Amino acid sequence: MKHFIIPVFIPHFGCIHSCVFCNQQKITGRNTPVNSQEVADIIDEHLGRITEKRHIEVAFYGGSFTALTIEIQSELLKPAYIALKAKKIHGIRLSTRPDCITNEIVQNLMQYGVSTIELGVQSLDNKVLEASARGHSCSDVFEAVTIIKNMGLFCGLQLMPGLPQEDWKSLIRTAQGIIKLAPDFIRIYPTLVIAHTRLADMYHEGSYKALSLTTGITYGAFLKLLFDQYKIPVIRTGLQATEELDKSSVVLAGPYHPAFGEMVDSYIFYVMLAHFAELVLLLKESTDEIIIHHHPRDTSKVRGVSNSNMKKFKSTYNAKNIILKQDGLHINEVIVEYQDIYYVINKKMLFYI
Ligand code: SF4
Repeated sequence: MKHFIIPVFIPHFGCIHSCVFCNQQKITGRNTPVNSQEVADIIDEHLGRITEKRHIEVAFYGGSFTALTIEIQSELLKPAYIALKAKKIHGIRLSTRPDCITNEIVQNLMQYGVSTIELGVQSLDNKVLEASARGHSCSDVFEAVTIIKNMGLFCGLQLMPGLPQEDWKSLIRTAQGIIKLAPDFIRIYPTLVIAHTRLADMYHEGSYKALSLTTGITYGAFLKLLFDQYKIPVIRTGLQATEELDKSSVVLAGPYHPAFGEMVDSYIFYVMLAHFAELVLLLKESTDEIIIHHHPRDTSKVRGVSNSNMKKFKSTYNAKNIILKQDGLHINEVIVEYQDIYYVINKKMLFYI
């Protein structure tokens, strides 16, 4: 059954921190707190619009839900819990900070039917967390994940590649730590420079260099491929496009693109094709016909956004005649037919760490 999320945004309200990258008002497009009645109205409004059978969840996003007082958390959860008991929805999820998780807090959330908690981890490098003024350390993350998993809830982790003081080594260490934590899923949100944040000041002063779109895509592809090896699903790469984020006055720098997730997936396919080419085509002055067999669901990823993969592959490897055939049996795999030999390439072959 398809999923349907009823999003309830809890803006900066509740959070006593001031992470360098955060301007929740700009990200969520609002700056007033929500209340119990508003939550009920949001749920009713969405339920009224759903016509097909769906797995429906209410999701409290933004801000730091469990940094609110227990009373306010309970007030906001009540309407969702009522809908859950009435079988109008199937689950409740929320996002929060790693240092705002205790046994008592999670017990209260469970009383109101919360089944999934997402933690804004961002990095597992204390130097990066400090430079980003996160106000928590890696050990807070390990403790929070342990509590959530011991209580039997689903645990998702959010990462922000590209924060101040991060480099490739730091990103790899973060990825290795995440693998040890074995969360149920991951979201990857490359760092963006949002107007009216401390990161924007650092960017203007020259003390912070934003990731380019290309590097952001490379980081996203690296993490996705690696987590794939360990069967940790990456359920999102890149922030969801909104009118607010599309304004150039809001996102000042960083790898923002409305099709960021597609670009990451396409890049992974390009790496798969390049893997074949580096092994087989590199020493050839010109190439014969190349046929790329793939699953029909992967055609846009093989082609790349605006056919970018095909253009780049042709120019890099001097491949003039490429034919795409949608007759592959497996998704996430290409079979390259070249000079009557078939080369099977899938994500698992790309690298191990
Ligand atoms: S903890 Fe979350 S809401 Fe609070 S400042 Fe940081 S990113 Fe923003």
